Amino acid sequence: MHELAITQDIVETVGARADGARVLRVVVVIGKLSAVLPDAVRFCFELCCEDTPLAGAALEIVEPPGVVRCRGCGAEFEIDRPFARCVCGSTELDWISGEQLSIRAIEIVEEGAA
Ligand SMILES: [Zn+2]
Repeated sequence: MHELAITQDIVETVGARADGARVLRVVVVIGKLSAVLPDAVRFCFELCCEDTPLAGAALEIVEPPGVVRCRGCGAEFEIDRPFARCVCGSTELDWISGEQLSIRAIEIVEEGAA
């Protein structure tokens, strides 16, 4: 289950960026072609956050669709699964985006804030 390793990586990266501050919210981008299951990441997140500055933090996942270009006719369209077929019948599709996996934003408790 590679989502566990990915989630641990996210938690470590966010923890390092927060630099000791408590983290309230994390926004993660998981493209629909990334082969990462958002539900699995959600499942692992709470566990991975235990005993870290992220304990109790909310996780928000943004899932941009995949965008591909057909080699047959040049059409560009969105897909939400790695395998798809163009209206022209071709299955030779170049992936333009949708494989991204990144941390978009983190929200921390500012020191000294009421
Ligand atoms: Zn096509």
